[in-house]
Amino acid sequence: MVIENKKTIFECSECGKEYSSKRQATECEKDDMYEEKTKQIERTVVFTITENHLNLLKRLNVEWYDCEFGAPCIDPKRPYGNSNVESDIYEMTKMKGDKALFIHKEMQIVLQIIFATGLIETGDYEKQDQYDYQSWQKMTN
Ligand SMILES: [Zn+2]
Repeated sequence: MVIENKKTIFECSECGKEYSSKRQATECEKDDMYEEKTKQIERTVVFTITENHLNLLKRLNVEWYDCEFGAPCIDPKRPYGNSNVESDIYEMTKMKGDKALFIHKEMQIVLQIIFATGLIETGDYEKQDQYDYQSWQKMTN
């Protein structure tokens, strides 16, 4: 006897990929949205450094990455000293979940601004050219 196989397919609303479980599709959507948000952060040409950023900055775990010429780097496993990164971020900013992940990602821009301007100050900054991370300047208003 022929059996009609009715499989439910779950589709990620962000990228259209199909999954056999709702959990996988939901995870795909979450990953896609996170990726989009991190791209937005990287492409931004206007950025505000807050006290939260400066608090995180004080805890950044600077190491030496011994590859090719070697270079200073932030330990990606323990960026703020402990392997429980969300807990470290919460301790310093009281941010949780996505907010914590995004402020962590924003530290890339904070370091670009500090290195380009020589300033470690809260405030608004702008980049002259989207692809020139050395062109960050403090906005005067
Ligand atoms: Zn997806």
